[in-house]
Amino acid sequence: MEDCLFCKIIDGEIPSKKVYEDEYVYAFLDIDPKAPFHAVFVPKKHIKSPADINAENSLYVAKIYEAISAVAKSENLENGFRVVANCGKDGGQTVGHLHFHLLARRYLQWPPG
Ligand code: 5GP
Ligand code: ZN
Repeated sequence: MEDCLFCKIIDGEIPSKKVYEDEYVYAFLDIDPKAPFHAVFVPKKHIKSPADINAENSLYVAKIYEAISAVAKSENLENGFRVVANCGKDGGQTVGHLHFHLLARRYLQWPPG
C-alpha cells in the first residue's frame, strides 16, 4: 500500500535489518529497541491492525507466530520472550500496518504500563 512504512520496508524501498522472511512474513530489527532483542514481524499483506484480522487473512497471523517460534529458537531465547501487538490510539500503535513485537533478553515487567 502506498505511503505505508512497513509496506516500504517489505518492498526494500526502506532498508531494514532482516531477521526472518518467508512467503507470508517479513521480520526486522526495531529501529528504536525496547529490549536487548527487539524484532518486528509483519504480514506481507497490508492489514491495518489487530482489529482487522478476519477469516480471510488470519493465515498471516498463524504464519507470523510460526516465524516467531523459529526466530526464538535460532536466537536462543530460551529464557523467554514477549509478543506484543499494539492496536489503535489507546493501544499505542504508531504504524498502521499490523505488526507483532518480539521482545527478549531482559526481564519484562507484568503488567506493562
Ligand atoms: P508500534 O508503536 O506501532 O506498536 O510499533 C512501531 C514500531 O516500529 C516502533 O517500535 C518503532 O520503533 C518501529 N519503527 C518505526 N519506524 C521504523 C523504521 O523505519 N525502521 C524500523 N526498523 N523500525 C521502525
Ligand atoms: Zn502496509
